[in-house]
Order: sequence, then C-alpha cells, then structure tokens
Amino acid sequence: MRKASNFQLPRINDIALSPVIPHNAASSKKNKTMVLQSPELRPLDACLRSLRVRWQDYRTLGSFDHFVEFTLALDNLTEHLNRLKLPGLLRQCESLENATLALFGDASSHPVGEREAVALERQVDTLLHTIESALAPTADPGENHRRRGAAASQTDAEWAKPRSIWLIAEEQHPWVPGLAEQLGFFGFRVSRIGWRDPAPAAASPLVALYIPPAGGYAAEELRAIQRLRSDHPTSQLFCLAVPKSLEITVALLRAGADVTLQAEQETVTVLGRLLDLLQSREQEPYRVLVVEDSSTAIAMIQRSLSQHGIDSHPIGNPQLLLSAVEQYRPDLVLMDMYMPHCTGVEATRVLRQLTDYQSLPVVYLSSETDMGMQVEALRLGGDQFLTKPCNPVLLAAVVKTKIERYREMQRHSQHDSLTGLLNHSAAKSRLNLLVQSLQAAPEPLCVAMLDIDHFKSVNDTYGHPVGDQVIRSLAWLLKGRLRASDIIGRYGGEEFIVVLRNAKPAEAESVLDGIRADFATLPHAHAGGTLRATFSAGLASFPDWTSGNDLTQAADAALLEAKRQGRNRIRLARQGNSAQ
Ligand code: GH3
Ligand code: MG
Ligand code: MG
Ligand code: MG
Repeated sequence: MRKASNFQLPRINDIALSPVIPHNAASSKKNKTMVLQSPELRPLDACLRSLRVRWQDYRTLGSFDHFVEFTLALDNLTEHLNRLKLPGLLRQCESLENATLALFGDASSHPVGEREAVALERQVDTLLHTIESALAPTADPGENHRRRGAAASQTDAEWAKPRSIWLIAEEQHPWVPGLAEQLGFFGFRVSRIGWRDPAPAAASPLVALYIPPAGGYAAEELRAIQRLRSDHPTSQLFCLAVPKSLEITVALLRAGADVTLQAEQETVTVLGRLLDLLQSREQEPYRVLVVEDSSTAIAMIQRSLSQHGIDSHPIGNPQLLLSAVEQYRPDLVLMDMYMPHCTGVEATRVLRQLTDYQSLPVVYLSSETDMGMQVEALRLGGDQFLTKPCNPVLLAAVVKTKIERYREMQRHSQHDSLTGLLNHSAAKSRLNLLVQSLQAAPEPLCVAMLDIDHFKSVNDTYGHPVGDQVIRSLAWLLKGRLRASDIIGRYGGEEFIVVLRNAKPAEAESVLDGIRADFATLPHAHAGGTLRATFSAGLASFPDWTSGNDLTQAADAALLEAKRQGRNRIRLARQGNSAQ
C-alpha cells in the first residue's frame, strides 16, 4: 500500500470546510471478486473493493495515514454513485463520509476508540452490502443495465426497452390517466400503484412519481416514501404537487425524495426533468495542467489528483504554457507562484488575454502566506489560492468543484435552450469526433436528418408558442426513445440530427420509423383543442459515407426525397444513386 505520509497532515478545519465533491474518478485497480459484471461497473467494483481493503488496513494498522487512505477511497465511491445517478446509495455513502470526517482529527487521534471503530465498521458493511445487492444482476437484465449508467458501447437493442416508472397515486386521481398516457408516449413503462398497496417485487424503477392523496403528504405518506427509499436505493423519487412549505419540503427530502415539484408546475416540467435523467453525462476524465518548477511538488500533486481519477499533465517551465493548454485542453490549471522566467500571476494574466482561456479556472498553489499578495493574485485573474503543502483531500475537493462548474458552463454553451439537446455546432463536432474514431475501430453507424412537415402552417395557424411545444415534444420523444449513447441535436429551427451508434441501416430505419409513427399520433395542445404533426427523415450510413460532412449531406438529400415523395416518411440514402 502506498503511504500518505509525504503530505502535510490535514488539519481538522480544512477537513470540516472541504466539501465532499463527487468527481469522475476511474479507478483501475483489479477486483478479483467481481460482484458486478458489466464493463461500465468495473470502476465501481474496484471502488468497493478498495474501500474494503482500506478499511481492513486501518483496522489492522490503525495509523492516521491509513485513515486518510480510507477517506479517499470513500470519496471515490461517493463520486461514482453520483455519476451513475443512484441517489439513494449516494445518500448512504455521504452519511458514512460525514461519520468518517467527524473522526478525522490528526495523528494523535488514531487509532480511534474501539466503540467508534465498531460503529464505523457496521456502517461500512451495511453500505457495501446495500450497493452489492442493489446492483447485483436480476431477472430483468435490460433494466438493470440501463440503471447502472449508460456505457458508450451499448450494443443491445436498448431503445426497445421502456424505462420503468411507478406512479404512486390513488386510482381515481384526475392526473393519472393523462400523465400515464404522456409518459407512455415518451418511452416510459408506467405502473400505477396505490399509496397503501404493497410495492411490487419487480426490479427497481427508474423513477417513482408520487401524487399526494387528498389530505396531502401526511405522516403515513412520508413513511411510505421512506420505505420505498430504503427498498429501492437506485431509484429517483419525484414528489409532485408539493405545497410551497419549508416544513413539508424538508420532511419529504428527509424521507428520501430527490426532486419536489410544486402543484402549479405543469406536466411539461415533470417530463423535462424525467427526460434529463436519460441524457448521458460527460464521461471524460477531468484534466488538470500543473505548472510547477519543483519536481517534488509535481509528484505530490499528481499523486493526489490521480487518487481521485483526475488526469494531469505537468510542465516545469511557464514558457510551455500556451502550447500546453492548446494541446492538452485542461479543465483547470494549478499554477505555482514562483518559477523561472515569470511568476504564476504573470502567466495567468497572459492566459486571460486569450479569448479561449478567459474562463479556464486557475488555482494558485504556493507557500505564499501574505494575505495582501494572495488578494492581488486573485484580482489579477486567479480563481483560488491554496497554500503549499496542501492536504490532498482539500486539493482534490477544490479542483473537482471548480471543474464541475466549468464543465457545467461549457455544457450550457453546447446545448439548445428550448429543447436541452445539443446545438448545431456541438452535435456536428461530436459526430466528426465519432466518425474519426471509427477509422481505427469500425462499427456501423447511421446519421439521420429530421424535419417537421409543414411547420410554417403550425406557426401560422396556432402561433409560435404552440410551434415551440411541438419542437420540444419531438426532442423529448427522441430523448425518451433513443439510447443515452446516441447523439441527438437540434440542427436548426425544426430540424434535428440523430446519430445512432452501432446500428445498421435497417435497424436504424425501423427504430426511426417507430418514432415517426408515434409522433404522428401524439396530440399537441393548443387553445382550441389538440393538433397533430408529422416529420420526415433522411438516413445515411457509415461506411457508405465516411466523413461527418458526407454523412449529413447524404442524409439531407434523402430527407429532401422524403419530402418530395409526400412527407411523413423515412428515406434511406444509398451509395451510387439517390435515396430509395
Ligand atoms: P416542409 O414540410 O417542407 O419542411 O415545410 P415547412 O413549413 O416546415 O418549411 P420550413 O422547414 O422551410 O419551415 C420552417 C419554419 O419553422 C420556418 C420558421 O418560421 C419556423 N421556425 C424555425 N425555428 C422555430 C422555432 O424555434 N420556433 C417556432 N415556433 N418556429 C420556428
Ligand atoms: Mg516554484
Ligand atoms: Mg426546415
Ligand atoms: Mg419543415
């Protein structure tokens, strides 16, 4: 086991102040027991094993260093559960983390007393047991596979697999039929369950949606939510029609609710929130550029970061800064204060002159303790100041928070605000990257261009806001029905681009045709009733066309052909002649 003694021992204040921030660590340690078999769960598997080993090491050896290692392993696990969107498990893990940090102390506080150690051990065992049994394969492998977080390489026909929702409501509640029908349209399988019914023995749902009975959320309802929370730690719990009351909202959150929505929030909001759960999150590891002239400092920093799954690239000379940011594309720069050629503050000011790096987070790492100097350094373009030597938990927490925010901001700039889908340029660049990667590892891929039919007349007859809702509905339908690994973008006004990975043309055509047929029957509300809309699509496949541009152009030509042939249909582009 590696020792943590190179680092300054964390002080209790640092620990208490450092938030436990999830990050996207990817541990590569081998796990021989392999409880969780699917590839995307291997890092989680390694986290569980590492937590167990670290705890056993601490129990045997009892040093502060071992306790630090155990805390880091726990932090790692928290992050994974967050990435996999498993709120119930995350909560349990965070509660263990709080108990651990309360015992952190310093070298003189370890080993902790036997009573504390036994209590902590019980919590560790319970947590590991809950996670292992929650994620163990069940009779419903497709459902399980989806719940565990989407891997980029899914090859099963996951789009044929509706995501399950439990609607917990009284049978006669007026919202039930409409909500169940809408959710069904967007690709969810809905089961209504009464507030007093026993929970079904089926696999955990993606989401449990609660509609309160006439008396509102009272003690009995809270107990029911609590029971479901502990029986289904991987599900998301949404409470609808929550009154604007601090007391009730706190009670619901304590009982285990993940999302509370107020009564006046429409179905549109509920659907939007549910469909957001299906989008795949950024999977790339965080990248940190370390600008530091001391190789000892570099080694310590890189070790702290890699323990949290954060990738880093060191440069010992600030003269290399501009080429390094361009090639490495960091999410954050850790900047030493004093280096040859120029100071960290000067290097940061240079970075801020360039539009591409104006919002790139810069964190200074320095032994500088002069408050005036620190303030000046922040004023000149830095985001935070950490004093060296920095404790590893605090360093990772700061780096992770800053990167989360930065990536969130980047995400905003890549998504369309009306639909939440990727915008034109983001979708195009993802397609190009994907197609490039196929040169080395070919797999079938299809690109479709979709365009709503006679959309101008929808706007002219019912007004722009109704038109907007039609656009949003098609976006949701695509999000609900396609896999998390597919690329879905809003290409223009009422035009969409869809990239289906690992799909042969016939398969892609049949999936899209199913969506086309369902969209045509979907009612869109307007002031005087409902309207129906249709879309046409053109499809082109790799390797018939081998660049992102050629694929979109061929799909566009096929779309035009579909329009010419009467709309509300899908046409496949074939190499050598026009669309069939
Ligand atoms: P076609 O079947 O040939 O596609 O006919 P169309 O009427 O859909 O023709 P076209 O694609 O040229 O029209 C697109 C219209 O979409 C024009 C524009 O006013 C409208 N539009 C573009 N963006 C938006 C938007 O964000 N919201 C709304 N409501 N309308 C939009
Ligand atoms: Mg230095
Ligand atoms: Mg158009
Ligand atoms: Mg159109």
